[in-house]
Formats: sequence, C-alpha cells, structure tokens
Amino acid sequence: MLKGGGLANFRKQLLEWYRQYRRDLPWRRTKDPYRIWLSEIMLQQTRVAAVIPYYEKFLERFPDIQSLARAPEEEVLRLWSGLGYYSRARNLQKAAQQMVAKHGGNFPKTAEATLALPGIGAYTAAAILSIAFEEKHAVLDGNVARVMARLGAVRGDIREAGRWHSLQKMADGLIATDSPGNWNQAMMELGATLCTPKSPQCLLCPVSGFCEARKLGIAEELPEKRKKRATVDVTLAAIVFLDARGHTLLLPPPRPSKKIANADDVPTLVSRMWHFPAVAVAKDTLTELRKFLATLLPATSLRTPLRIEPLRKIRHAVTYRAVTIYSFRIQVKKLPKIAGAKTPLLEQLSTLPISNLTRKVAQAALAASAGMPAARAK
Ligand code: SF4
Repeated sequence: MLKGGGLANFRKQLLEWYRQYRRDLPWRRTKDPYRIWLSEIMLQQTRVAAVIPYYEKFLERFPDIQSLARAPEEEVLRLWSGLGYYSRARNLQKAAQQMVAKHGGNFPKTAEATLALPGIGAYTAAAILSIAFEEKHAVLDGNVARVMARLGAVRGDIREAGRWHSLQKMADGLIATDSPGNWNQAMMELGATLCTPKSPQCLLCPVSGFCEARKLGIAEELPEKRKKRATVDVTLAAIVFLDARGHTLLLPPPRPSKKIANADDVPTLVSRMWHFPAVAVAKDTLTELRKFLATLLPATSLRTPLRIEPLRKIRHAVTYRAVTIYSFRIQVKKLPKIAGAKTPLLEQLSTLPISNLTRKVAQAALAASAGMPAARAK
C-alpha cells in the first residue's frame, strides 16, 4: 500500500492525466445528482456510446426527479426500451418516488439514505455521492477492481467476497480526499480506456511506475479468470398475429409471480414487457405451439384452422441463456380477443415498451411482409 510522498505522487499523476485526457461525456458536465445517478444506472452493463442517446432523450422527457416520479411506468419503460435490463428503469422510478415521498424531491446526501433506495448498491452510491457532493467514498466496480488488482498484483478471483473487500480497502486507502469526485472518475477512466481487460496500454499509463503487475510482467494475466456460469439453451416459439390492416397482438407484461401457461422462461426473457404470445418448446415445435394456442385463444378463434407460417429463426442472448426463437406468422381476418392484450400496428411497436427479443421477432415479421424469404417450419 502506498504511503506519504509516493501516495501523493500517485494521486497527482492520475488526476493530472484525467484532467488532460478525460472523455467529454454529457454526465461529466454536471454536478446534478439526478443526472449523475441516471448515467450510472444506464451505464451498468451498457457501453458509453449506446447510453448517450438514451440518456439525452430520457432527460428531455424527465428533466428532474419529480417528472420521473409522476410519469406512467409504461412511458419510463418505453424510453428505456432497447437498453435492456429493465429492472433498472423500474427501480429508478421507484427510487424517484421515494425521494419525493421522503426527501422533499431531492437526492439524499448520506450513504445510509442513498443505499436504502431501490437499485442503488455500494458502487453507485459511492459514485453519485462523490461526484455530486464530493463525499469521500471510493468506488469499486469491475473496471476499478481490475486496476486495483493490477496495481497490487493481486492473484485470484477478484469477485470472491474476501478479495473484493480487500480491493475496496485498497481503493479507500488511495482516494484523493481533496477531490474524491474527480478521483473516482479518474480511476474509472483509467480502467475503461487504458487498463482494459485485454492488452492494457501500460506505455501510456500515468501510474505505470507504481504498478506491481507491470513490474512483474503479469499485467495481462490479471485479474485471473473466474469460472463462467454454464450457458443454458432455451427454445421459444413466438406468434405474430397479423390482420389485413397490419395490426398485431401483444400480451401484457407478465407479473413476477404470474407465469404464462407452460412457459416458465418467457416472463424473464421478455423482461416483463409487452410481448408476442410465446411458449417454451422442447421437441416438436409445431405440436407444442398448437397446444399453447389452444390454451391461449378463445374457442371462436379456433373454429377455422389456423395457417401457421414460419418466419426466420432468431438467436438472442439474455445473461447466461442462449435463446433460439422460432417465430411464426398467423394472418387473420380479426385479431383474437384476449383479456388485457393490445393490438398495435406491427410497424409501430417501438411506441410501446418492448424487449429486444420482441423487437427481433417484429423485425422478422416485417421482413417477411416486405417479401423477404420466410423459413421452413421445424
Ligand atoms: Fe494498468 Fe498497465 Fe497502468 Fe498497471 S501500468 S495500472 S496494468 S495500464
């Protein structure tokens, strides 16, 4: 652990580098905790370039905590639609509502109150409090943990609880107490731009002289790989009903406790948003799909045989699941009546909160309608 003059030099060099080379990002031009919070939530598991347009659009519609708190959830999800991990958006709104109810519509300034909000863990709380209010909390996320592991040549799985705790202590010991906001951002920037998982650019690194892993020539070996969770294959069949005017049928977001008949994986995979009727299938897709339709549709819709046309096969990844979706189109005179369902124009689904999986199925149906080749039934 660095101390005294060595620590002062380390801080000085990193902060100077950050001031000179930091990327100009929209959330770095503000001290507004709401905006910083929003950026931190959007950046979880999402690249900076993908976040920027969402961030700007979201703030245009919800410029402050109050406007977010009182908006319909559906609108919040619509503006999040495409970013994925929708529980982030739901928690964001719930937290905004709690701030209005308990903190006069302001972002709380203490770690205790911040950590009590939904969707805010130790890392996010430290980032917001340090950047917005200059509170002395050191951040530790995957990027910073990698930098710490390399600086201290720490072996082993950095996600293991004891090791993560020591890396947090190391980060706490390094933080520049006179500018914690810039310090945390400098650490994150170093991890994101130079001290990257593969091929760290040590020749450009402002703190390479302090780095144990570089001295030992093991920078690229750290952090050591952890065991990956095995991928689970899931197969779904999804139906796009289509009437002559181009309207389709979407089912409402499944409730967490309410599972779609015979389809345990569907609620998770559609991120609890509006979705096409879909069912998990195992062997004989068409037979299982017909069974599902028999449970889903009212008897009147089944009087005439349904013509099920295969669309293209879709691949989709959700965390550890590798999803294959066999999508089908059923053209009907009148869309079946299903309680709670919506019947939007297929071309205009983006006006509703839908998951990327649903978006891909819609694209397959639109491509087929535009005359692109359809697939063969399985
Ligand atoms: Fe990372 Fe290399 Fe800098 Fe060490 S010298 S902190 S490994 S970029």
